[in-house]
Amino acid sequence: MTTPTLYNYGSINIDHVYRVPHLVKPGETLSSTDYQQVLGGKGANQSVAAARAGGQVAHWGQLNAGDQWALDVLDEAGVDTQGVARVDTPSGHALIQVDDAGENSIVLFGGANQSIDHDFIATRLAKVERDDWVLLQNECSHTAGMIEAAHARGLKVAFNPAPMTRDVTEMALDTLSILFVNRGEGAMLAGLDDNADPDTVLSTLAQRYPDTEIILTLGADGVYHQKGKQSLFAPAEQVDARDTTAAGDTFIGYFMAARLEGKDVSTCLKHATRAAAYSVQRAGAHTSIPRACDLEQP
Ligand code: ADP
Repeated sequence: MTTPTLYNYGSINIDHVYRVPHLVKPGETLSSTDYQQVLGGKGANQSVAAARAGGQVAHWGQLNAGDQWALDVLDEAGVDTQGVARVDTPSGHALIQVDDAGENSIVLFGGANQSIDHDFIATRLAKVERDDWVLLQNECSHTAGMIEAAHARGLKVAFNPAPMTRDVTEMALDTLSILFVNRGEGAMLAGLDDNADPDTVLSTLAQRYPDTEIILTLGADGVYHQKGKQSLFAPAEQVDARDTTAAGDTFIGYFMAARLEGKDVSTCLKHATRAAAYSVQRAGAHTSIPRACDLEQP
């Protein structure tokens, strides 16, 4: 049997990162001391992570035709980008200021990620096999439509509702195979306070979606996996965290790559936890995501 493919329907963002002495104030014009343009977006990060873990990954998304360099980064990570549409609309992008204290402020523009139409979904789904997976986040248009259409096609669907929005709470999610949430996303989806305790979040979600694997990540406090009444906990690795950007994306990509290989839950959690711990010790988003060989024991 061939290993299934992970089709990731996800955002591709261009992050414009400005280094500033302080975050710009209303009415102020401020000179930036450094500027970098890097690939970002939860979708792109998760594709990079799953591919660097060794998974067969094809990205579905949309970006401006002039931003080929962003696809080159995905290609170099081993992601198949044939399912990415090149359009005239500006690419999704983020204007990020980072000050000397490490504080940041971000203006996000959905751009091409948010103008994907229905035909896009139908055309791509028509080409996939029954054993394949569809992964998605909440940064592209027609999220609910993709979940429904992929399930109707007989595919397994994994969903990470990030960034979490009110409309996710109204989506039909009971057909999902896997739901990945962090503490805040889990609490909001469960209809609880931000500071609700993880046990309550988990039991609420498990009751509502009894056939779905619920994966609740808790940063340095580890991760819970629950399906129905079966629950498992994996602690996070004790490391000196420098930058937690893309920790969740790394975790999800690695978990999915292990799942494609047919690994059991505790092995998937172990691989994902290890990779995410590597990522938090390094700065940046996709640049902090390890390759499988980076995680081999010395
Ligand atoms: P998100 O980045 O989506 O908010 P989390 O903060 O829950 O997600 O982190 C996802 C995973 O990354 C955690 O389950 C854990 O394995 C790892 N992780 C995050 N922060 C740390 C940390 N400070 N130390 C070690 N591992 C971490």
